[in-house]
Amino acid sequence: MAHISKINQIILILLDDVRSSHLFGLIEDGKLPTMKKIMEDGIFSKNCITSFYSVTFPCYPNVITGAYSGYFPKEGSGIPAYHWVNRTDTPQHDDKFPFIRNYNERKGIMNIGNDLGTTVKTIFEQDRKEGNHLSALNIVNRGSHFAVPPQFNTEGVFKTIQEGFENPKKFFETNEAPRITVGYVPATDSLMHEKGFNHEDYINEIIRCDEYLGKLINYLERAGYLDSTAICITSDHGNYEAKKMFDLEPYFNQIGLVQYNPKKGTGDFDCAIGSVGTFNFRGNTWHDHPTIDQLKHFQATLSKNKELNLFDVLWNIPGVKYLYYRDDDNTPDKGIIHLEYKDSKSNKIHHGMIEYRGHGRNQTTKYVHESEELFGYSQNESASKLLDGKFHDIDEWLAATHHIDFPMFIDQLPRTFKNPRSCDIMISTCGEYCFSYEHGKTMEPHVYSHDIALKESMTVPLLIGGNPNIPELHVKYCKTTDIVPTLLHLLGEQPHQSVVGKSLV
Ligand SMILES: [Zn+2]
Repeated sequence: MAHISKINQIILILLDDVRSSHLFGLIEDGKLPTMKKIMEDGIFSKNCITSFYSVTFPCYPNVITGAYSGYFPKEGSGIPAYHWVNRTDTPQHDDKFPFIRNYNERKGIMNIGNDLGTTVKTIFEQDRKEGNHLSALNIVNRGSHFAVPPQFNTEGVFKTIQEGFENPKKFFETNEAPRITVGYVPATDSLMHEKGFNHEDYINEIIRCDEYLGKLINYLERAGYLDSTAICITSDHGNYEAKKMFDLEPYFNQIGLVQYNPKKGTGDFDCAIGSVGTFNFRGNTWHDHPTIDQLKHFQATLSKNKELNLFDVLWNIPGVKYLYYRDDDNTPDKGIIHLEYKDSKSNKIHHGMIEYRGHGRNQTTKYVHESEELFGYSQNESASKLLDGKFHDIDEWLAATHHIDFPMFIDQLPRTFKNPRSCDIMISTCGEYCFSYEHGKTMEPHVYSHDIALKESMTVPLLIGGNPNIPELHVKYCKTTDIVPTLLHLLGEQPHQSVVGKSLV
């Protein structure tokens, strides 16, 4: 493929929180003419499946590395969730207690580079040629020059990308245009949460991105860069509107569960819950994950010598449909994730499990269930074929489930639970309730959210083009970890061995 070697620059732009069907709907309505042209002349997919769970972290770092969360001392991005407790599987029982990471806090977000596992590589670190790398507000920026736009807004991100080409010396030692640029647009996400995906302010922000992109492409053409530059537009996750809000603070207080204090090592639990909730409980100490037996016989600080069954406690939260937890004997290479599903009509709980083997791109998973199938796979022709009691890899799950709810979910859940930083129990209301509860407090309520495994929250748009040398290709389905190997392929580079995805070209 000689023509591809003509590409010398890559620009990857991540618009936070844009659902695939919304972006392609705007293209069809003629509202995004620049992206329409990229779509028509280049590579596009309306079914690009992101990571579970569908929150900026882990989804965004997974786009930039082409890998997933996992047992990060050996493989994986290391970032399981937006909020996590820093447990390791080799606890250091000194007088320090595991910290709580919260990416809503400035000190959390600025630590993202340190949190990222060292066995995965960012797209910049995977580039083997000498060259400049620019991060225009891209916070997953290991291996690049990080630039904060002087005007801290969406237009500033696009202008900073242009400046990288216009005046490389401003950012780099040499006066060469950056080989790899990643731009990150956070404004779409805050508008989505505050106003919703149907609000004109959110939609207009996406329309403005198209205008700024058009200006950037005009500049690249004038400056003679366009024929050697590939432009990629994608998002980290989609979104949904929760039906109801509920304040959980009184419920946990009444049960007697006390919030974990990482300075003192006191307390029973730590939790962050939108519609998906991640719960950490004290094990032998706060360094250790509790066993299943400890979760069933838990002595909470204020529960007056009465043992709590924490599974019952979590099932009593309104609207909970799913509950997941790891087996006691799991290792990074082999293990079981237990699955429970409550039928809202009969209130009966159905059981299943995911068995996993291997890791990284070699992970395979097997899904079995008892009385009833849990995710609606049995009602779908292609998905039901994988309910054969055999192990399947990520691309088999993607091919069989990209078009329905819980896309690629069987592959994704073990990757999260393998990470020692990940929670003990995860619950989901599947978008019925949103709780906005974090670390002991109910925060400002938001019905517009993302985190669940339903298709609308798990599917992002993908466009790669802007250049006549890129082949026209309609990709029926793919995954966000395919983006980095595809872009590296266009540059004539091979992805690092930690990359799970593969090139679409
Ligand atoms: Zn996001």
